[in-house]
Amino acid sequence: MLESVKEPLFAAYNIGQAKKVREALANPQLFKVVQCAPAVRVAIAEEFGLNLGALTPGKMAAALRRLGFNKVYDTNFGADLTIMEEGNELIKRVTEGKDLPLFTSCCPAWVKFMEQAYPELLKNLSTCKSPQQMQGAIIKTYGAKINNMDPAKIFSVSVMPCTCKPFESDRPEMMASGYKDVDVVITTRELAYLIKDKGIDFANLPDEGFDLPLGDYTGAATIFGSTGGVMEAALRTAYEIITKNPIPKIDIEFVRGGEGVRTATVQIGDLELKIAVVAGLKNVLPILEDLKKGKSDYHFIEVMACPEGCISGGGQPKVLLEEYRGIAYKNRKDAIYKHDSELKLRKSHENPDIKKLYDEFLGEPLGKQSHHLLHTKYKSRKEK
Ligand code: SF4
Repeated sequence: MLESVKEPLFAAYNIGQAKKVREALANPQLFKVVQCAPAVRVAIAEEFGLNLGALTPGKMAAALRRLGFNKVYDTNFGADLTIMEEGNELIKRVTEGKDLPLFTSCCPAWVKFMEQAYPELLKNLSTCKSPQQMQGAIIKTYGAKINNMDPAKIFSVSVMPCTCKPFESDRPEMMASGYKDVDVVITTRELAYLIKDKGIDFANLPDEGFDLPLGDYTGAATIFGSTGGVMEAALRTAYEIITKNPIPKIDIEFVRGGEGVRTATVQIGDLELKIAVVAGLKNVLPILEDLKKGKSDYHFIEVMACPEGCISGGGQPKVLLEEYRGIAYKNRKDAIYKHDSELKLRKSHENPDIKKLYDEFLGEPLGKQSHHLLHTKYKSRKEK
């Protein structure tokens, strides 16, 4: 009772993870680092009375700095890194004709579903960690090095649109840095509570940038927030790696629709790549059943558990009136693609700080160091 009188906002929402973040922010011994997923910046402003789907990366970065984070980094950097690894993994598997189709692995709800329901198909899941976990591993290794920090003192927070991401960060294998790569995950709503709790006037904050180099990102990274975005980002890079020519049309609109399953055949040089984009787990079941029977001829399949991808994730601001929910999702999606179109660089392999990361630290995509920090293994969780 006393707790609820002293802390009405926290008590009302039972947000234990946010409390852990607030305690860490008050601890001067810790070096506090944060990363934010692409979908957060197109939704958080809704908690502060701005328009549905308002795009506010600059205000979000400013708010995170005022909360007391020492470095405001970005999951989008991790998304560009994911494309470097996953794009090369796709090319390798297609070249070798092995373990196809390749399924994306950014969505922890989808990964866990595969572990529970289709463990015999786990070899088809990309071994790439999600952008959150890649970014977490880099923050406590390369990030520790460039900031001259003991990784043991880094407290790494991730802000996600997703209620499954804490489970992902708690997996025992997500300690590639030698420490828990992401210490605490909070949702978009929980970040809004922290900002309100500190009395920060979000709507009137000036725009600020993310900290470099681990906050640098391209348009390809920002579209990860929408269904079809990972596919589009991967195709932009795979096309240029395979053909060594600029992609003729950077906006790959046929993967952007709203249907639960979208399929296409994409010509990349001599290669005919058969792809599918799936939103909502029930929609992937026929594809998985066909694959089990040896009847699938797809090369690459993106799967996201939420109906519109992460912009409609369970940790996003709630749109309680049903008639406004569709508008919110549409506006958030439009904002994601607008952000992409306005950025100077729109292909992950053109991110100069990603290139520098490989030059200075990782070596090459799918190399030894990349494999250790950025890839993972899955296990059957099927009940016997
Ligand atoms: Fe989480 Fe939904 Fe995004 Fe999957 S699609 S990562 S469940 S928010």
